[in-house]
Amino acid sequence: MNIARTIADLRRQVAAWRGRGERVGLVPTMGAIHAGHLALIEAARADNERVVASLFVNPKQFGPSEDFSSYPRDETADLSAFEGAGVDLVFMPGVEEMYPPGFATNVRVAGVSEGLDGAFRPGHFEGVATVVCKLLLQCLPDAAYFGEKDYQQLLVVRRMARDLDTPVHIEGVPTVREADGLALSSRNVYLSAQERRTAPLLNRVLRDIAAEIAARPDGIASSLERGRTALDAGGFAVDYLELRDAADLAPVDRLTAPSRLLVAARIGRTRLIDNIAVIPETTPRSGI
Ligand code: AMP
Repeated sequence: MNIARTIADLRRQVAAWRGRGERVGLVPTMGAIHAGHLALIEAARADNERVVASLFVNPKQFGPSEDFSSYPRDETADLSAFEGAGVDLVFMPGVEEMYPPGFATNVRVAGVSEGLDGAFRPGHFEGVATVVCKLLLQCLPDAAYFGEKDYQQLLVVRRMARDLDTPVHIEGVPTVREADGLALSSRNVYLSAQERRTAPLLNRVLRDIAAEIAARPDGIASSLERGRTALDAGGFAVDYLELRDAADLAPVDRLTAPSRLLVAARIGRTRLIDNIAVIPETTPRSGI
């Protein structure tokens, strides 16, 4: 497995592969590698001859009171996880390589970035769209892989890639979960033992409310209210629990098209997010 710390080195290696007609998949990560990241790498390996993983904790996507400085970092463990998963090249730029002095450009995606996490984490999706846009241009892969765990992020990246005509397919990968339903996340290490026991409630409530909405699509508002109440009672502070259109995140008050139930809630000092598909019974199932 090779390591590139500069954009020039990344480009050289990817150009050599593509020159030989090999397809290249890119998996952007912020490290603290877990089975969710490995599922993205596996999807990339299935579609491409070569897989590049990037490891960059992007300061621009953290708010001033968020966990940029304490974000879990373990380069040695991450590199061995990448190697074990069959990654060909790890791109590990320093902050100065990504944002040299004088850096002045931001990518802002209207619409899908607004509301939900966009409302609770001002500037977050600008930071995400900016760094992903740069990663796509730096690497120029055939496809890039993102988790449905961060569903709004996946749609923001899709919109950005389409709008800016980047010649890269954006692929979504289903969420990998613990046996009790908790979505894997680098931030789960922040949970105390007691919070960890409570955490699966988030996915349980999502599944219950999604089933209830699918069965009684005329009672969406009261189902959502019941879900919020159940999370409050279980010890979560709910930022949002909302039903949105699966394709563009427009608010949904009648279940007529594939939709997504999305939640963000805090438990102690940890903020967890999750989401689940809600499909109207008359619509044929399809991926996003
Ligand atoms: P992160 O390192 O947290 O920025 O995540 C890097 C990529 O892994 C993003 O595309 C995430 O959506 C994806 N990811 C994180 N957790 C999971 C999970 N549990 N299942 C699938 N993908 C995930």
